[in-house]
Amino acid sequence: MKFDPTPLLRPHIVNLLPYTSARDEYTGKEGIFLDANENPYGSVTDQDHNRYPDPYQLDLKEEIAKIKQVKPSQIFLGNGSDEAIDLLFRAFCNPGKDNVILLPPTYGMYEVSAGINDVETRKVPLTSDFQLQPDLILKAVDANTKIIFVCSPNNPSGNKVNREDILRLLREFNGLVVVDEAYIDFSDEPSFTTLLSEFGNLLIMQTFSKAWGLASLRLGMAFASKKMIKILNRIKPPYNISGLTQETVLAAINKVEKVNAMIADILQEREYLKAELSKLDFVEKIHPSHANFLLVKIPNASHVYDDLIEEKIIVRNRSKVQLCEECLRISVGTRAENEAFVQALRKIYTESFNL
Ligand SMILES: *Cc1c(COP(=O)(O)O)cnc(C)c1O
Repeated sequence: MKFDPTPLLRPHIVNLLPYTSARDEYTGKEGIFLDANENPYGSVTDQDHNRYPDPYQLDLKEEIAKIKQVKPSQIFLGNGSDEAIDLLFRAFCNPGKDNVILLPPTYGMYEVSAGINDVETRKVPLTSDFQLQPDLILKAVDANTKIIFVCSPNNPSGNKVNREDILRLLREFNGLVVVDEAYIDFSDEPSFTTLLSEFGNLLIMQTFSKAWGLASLRLGMAFASKKMIKILNRIKPPYNISGLTQETVLAAINKVEKVNAMIADILQEREYLKAELSKLDFVEKIHPSHANFLLVKIPNASHVYDDLIEEKIIVRNRSKVQLCEECLRISVGTRAENEAFVQALRKIYTESFNL
């Protein structure tokens, strides 16, 4: 399917003249650099950070392209996935006019970013087992619908979304389908990246924040057609990825084996946590998880959340979220952390609720 994103763009973005940085105009690495008003002596720190970084992160993209089996031109890197989400709103959604479709319960940033950009959100809830309702989603689409956000595996429910349903949206929706794969490394589901050449309206998001253990560096990836990536590059802040982040991830990227070992440990701990929780009578439901967390339904979830904090154990209270009533979201920890959590939970119920 040939898909041109240009007609979907906000009109002023089509003709926008992007900022050209000093490092755009001259990309060589050798020479006397008197073009960017940098400090020629170095930095106050032991390590030098005085030169502006590559605005397009080409070395890093080349390595990411290899491990993700995409082309460097199909990669956008953002200051966390959240930057890519915000840029999509700014590129495609006219404030006060256009809308996007969200599928709650889902990741909160889509709605926040829509709000910041004054863009209407149309919500089509997931089913009780957290799957899409494609008929209703497509019915909610109108001429001003620009983006549908799908999260798979979904946060906060943890399940993977049926592939056929996402494919149907890609085929039948003439706008952008974002598939947020932040948790794909914990799932047996293949990534949608293999379908990039087939669907020009597909944009996949992944992140270094979860499986790679680099949340503090803030590095999110978006994979899409070359045309779409060009649009994001035109409107992003010029130096959105710090040099330190680029260097650190470049040095880390050949450590796929270590990442895989950590993923294996997390999956094993997820099963341990699930097994331990299922031994507790008061646990009503442990939702199936393809992510590094479990959504667990328990009585008096909000009180338990508070009591856990008293024990210095912090989980995510999702009990006020639609379809997650009385649920806590628990990130998989180390064995010691998981044991401490289960023990605290048992104590809270026996002491506070006499169960
Ligand atoms: C954690 C998470 C991300 C990652 O966000 P970063 O900004 O890259 O840290 C993206 N999407 C979902 C659904 C997440 O849960």
